[in-house]
Amino acid sequence: VYVVRDFEFLEPTSVHDASAMLAEYGDECRIIAGGTALVLALRQRMVNPTHLISIGQIERARGITYDKKVGLRIGALTLHAEVAASPVIRKGYPMLADMAARVADPQVRNQGTIGGNLCYADPATDPPSSLMANDARLVLASKRGERILTIEEFLVDYYTTALEPDEIVTEIQVPPVNYTVGRHVRHLRTAAEHRPMINVAVTVKQNGRQCDDVRLVVGATTPVPARVKTGEDFLRGKAVTVDVAAEAAQIVATSIRPISDMRGSESYRRRVVATVVRRTICEMFGLEPS
Ligand SMILES: Cc1cc2nc3c(=O)[nH]c(=O)nc-3n(C[C@H](O)[C@H](O)[C@H](O)COP(=O)(O)OP(=O)(O)OC[C@H]3O[C@@H](n4cnc5c(N)ncnc54)[C@H](O)[C@@H]3O)c2cc1C
Repeated sequence: VYVVRDFEFLEPTSVHDASAMLAEYGDECRIIAGGTALVLALRQRMVNPTHLISIGQIERARGITYDKKVGLRIGALTLHAEVAASPVIRKGYPMLADMAARVADPQVRNQGTIGGNLCYADPATDPPSSLMANDARLVLASKRGERILTIEEFLVDYYTTALEPDEIVTEIQVPPVNYTVGRHVRHLRTAAEHRPMINVAVTVKQNGRQCDDVRLVVGATTPVPARVKTGEDFLRGKAVTVDVAAEAAQIVATSIRPISDMRGSESYRRRVVATVVRRTICEMFGLEPS
């Protein structure tokens, strides 16, 4: 039987108050946003806080705005379903809307937040890869002020972020799009699983079949998602053909360091990554993969 320990439920209305509570209760407290990840951890007694600090009343962490110069700002409390449905994101960043529409299942998409997803730093997730391919940044706020980190700087390791104990994530910033086309492709081990075993996020600046620039990220199959610069360097400046896509895919698959677990061995994961990358590049350049 799963029994959650008793806890106090706190509802600060400002970053300052939330940060002061985090500083006061330290390891004894946890932030809660949508609760989709945290409640499972509470039920399994992986964490046993005496205080839960709900950030749902903090206005600073809400809303979606877009400006041509600064780009997109997504409040950390934004639900996956809201990212998927946002007209601004669907129009300007269709890759992000498509990705969010496929996260988990309808229940999780309507309860889980994008900030909670990033802060939990579970490797088998989608937004980090897509946001990295879009050069996104996170705003970390505390009563000491704000700082901005890239996703690369923020995600340190398995379930480990660069958040200081008194900080919360308030916002995700995505610069204006400087690519022609972007894709986020998830590979599920079985259709019944919700979480990706592998994902690949690619943004490309194209001139016909010519690849002028590219950002290529592999996630969910490595402890943290990462750009694969060897693959990017190979593709940049090339006229892309089916053979070039296949060679790039091999380079990517051999450059990453996949985990090996019951969902897939390291070598299997490399083979799937190679296949997904090859097909994705072909599709983005209007080529028929062999
Ligand atoms: C069945 C299932 C399937 C899933 N499938 C997928 C999938 O396919 N793809 C995918 O990407 N994800 C998937 N997920 C993960 C899901 O996206 C996350 O659980 C969700 O986004 C977490 O958000 P939340 O608001 O519920 O976070 P919470 O559970 O409230 O919090 C998660 C963690 O982050 C901390 N936290 C939350 N918000 C902040 C903040 N703003 N600042 C600082 N710390 C914060 C909390 O303290 C806690 O440690 C799945 C989850 C489940 C349960």
